[in-house]
Amino acid sequence: MSGTIVKVSGPLIVASGMGDVEMHDVVRVSAKHLIGEVIELRDDKASIQVYEETAGLGPGEPVESTGSPLSVELAPGLIEGIFDGIQRPLDVIYKKAGDRITRGIEVPKLNRERKWKFEPQVAVGDKVIGGDIIGVVQETPAVLHKIMLPPGKEGTIEWVYSGDATIVDIIYKIKNKDGKVEEFPMLQTWPVRVSRPYKEKLAPTEPMITGQRVIDALFPIAKGGVAAIPGPFGSGKTVTQHQLAKWADADIIVYIGCGERGNEMTDVLMEFPTLNDPRTGLPLMKRTVLIANTSDMPVAAREASIYTGITIAEYFRDMGYKVALMADSTSRWAEAMREMSSRLEEMPGDEGYPAYLASRLAEFYERAGIVKCVGSEEREGAVSAIGAVSPPGGDISEPVSQATLRIVKVFWCLSASLAYARHFPAIDWLQSYSLYSDRLKAYYNGSVASDWSRLINGMMNVLQEESSLNEIVRLVGVDALGFKDRITLECARSIREDFLHQNSFHEVDTYTSLEKQYGMMEMIMGWYDKAEAALEQHVHLDKLIDMPVREKIGRMKYVPEKDYKEQFAIIGKEMDSEFATLTEGGDLDA
Ligand code: ADP
Repeated sequence: MSGTIVKVSGPLIVASGMGDVEMHDVVRVSAKHLIGEVIELRDDKASIQVYEETAGLGPGEPVESTGSPLSVELAPGLIEGIFDGIQRPLDVIYKKAGDRITRGIEVPKLNRERKWKFEPQVAVGDKVIGGDIIGVVQETPAVLHKIMLPPGKEGTIEWVYSGDATIVDIIYKIKNKDGKVEEFPMLQTWPVRVSRPYKEKLAPTEPMITGQRVIDALFPIAKGGVAAIPGPFGSGKTVTQHQLAKWADADIIVYIGCGERGNEMTDVLMEFPTLNDPRTGLPLMKRTVLIANTSDMPVAAREASIYTGITIAEYFRDMGYKVALMADSTSRWAEAMREMSSRLEEMPGDEGYPAYLASRLAEFYERAGIVKCVGSEEREGAVSAIGAVSPPGGDISEPVSQATLRIVKVFWCLSASLAYARHFPAIDWLQSYSLYSDRLKAYYNGSVASDWSRLINGMMNVLQEESSLNEIVRLVGVDALGFKDRITLECARSIREDFLHQNSFHEVDTYTSLEKQYGMMEMIMGWYDKAEAALEQHVHLDKLIDMPVREKIGRMKYVPEKDYKEQFAIIGKEMDSEFATLTEGGDLDA
């Protein structure tokens, strides 16, 4: 069925004669066959966002509907893939078309020639329902790709193949309840704007451990949780995201780069493939799907990229994997939405963003979560979503930041002034929060140490006290403070410098296990308690501040994981004996 262009406005075209198409149908525009998607229907007029450059198009040219919604292809070949916002493989189109992507280029989303070794896990006669695992393909050394019966299907296995096959070869057949035989390849498709089904959403109870101390200890994200990270330029947004991608205990990483300036995305495309997976020693790409839109790609493709990414994440979730999805940045995505909305001549809301900005953001984040997967087997999968926000000028009072904050449960507030002071990660401990903290308490107190939350509360109190004491110091100078307050300031400094500060580029410091984090907190807060007690016994403040063991506490972060138990025990003993000398050995304040 085809219509005719009546108007072209940048990436938006309006076509008439489209009475029979559905919302979100994919269309081919003009003889150039540009890819577009129907985003509004009025009578027989369709507004279409075009995912390719529209220059040169004009009224009168044909528009053809493909009759199917914008969808992703799901099969082996996703991992290690680098795709644009509508899942076109960038390496293939660059090879085919050179640096400037020719318009209307036809490439399959996933490689149809490559053969994969399919190992069946069902036998003829088995009853299967949607979500059941029919067989597996070792897609990369890091990822076992599970081939699932598509959601909604049901029947009895009639035939199943074993051996090498492409993603479009038929590998199994089922007889459905009407007695009809249906054939399936590995490949399935799914419309990007519809979330994939699950049996039940579960309450998140476990943290996604990242090895980044300020995150795991103070502002943890749950597996299946949602977090936002605003990143003023130079505040360490990229480094933080790379750290999360490398270290978070997730099986699969989906990274959506929504074009900042063109060259920044090129950085991602260049950098990501060079990252190594610290756990396996293999390239991180062996468990990563990269979706990249540079700003020189049409704005509409940026709008779609978020949905493409989350649909792929849900697919791996359905296999029972823990997926970490990073979107950088959701602000660029919102700007794409704003541009399309203004071209549609919709009523603008705050700062020109469409009124549905908040609900679109919510719909996206709601697709994260930990779920019971569909299928007869009991399995759980999770998508944790971390959205970077790049508010203009770093001012989070703007609409995208505000709408995001109302949805996400964790906020890691990157601060330009901390970054300027070279305190990394520059996550501001007074502004950031995690609404999962309470829920995750049971996990930390049960699996790591029973007084984990007591220590965390203690640390947060000291940090807050520091901030109010600093006000006093600013007004009347440090000498106005009592000894007890001075000890609090010293403890706060130790928390900041010895614990929160973490160098991503240091071989040991880059990752800290929860147990070692606990050991560090215990030591820092242990010093604080003992120093306060020593003050009561009239030990001189300077003596406490100058205790030699404090330097060792400062270097705890560099003690390798395998040695820390032994080393921390030695430091603990030294601390005790230094305190004993101070309180018993005649070092008393006169
Ligand atoms: P952004 O992406 O926000 O512009 P980057 O992530 O590129 O900022 O960080 C800027 C610089 O800050 C990095 O090149 C690095 O030198 C430093 N940096 C950021 N985070 C850390 C960290 N955790 N450890 C050490 N250095 C860091």
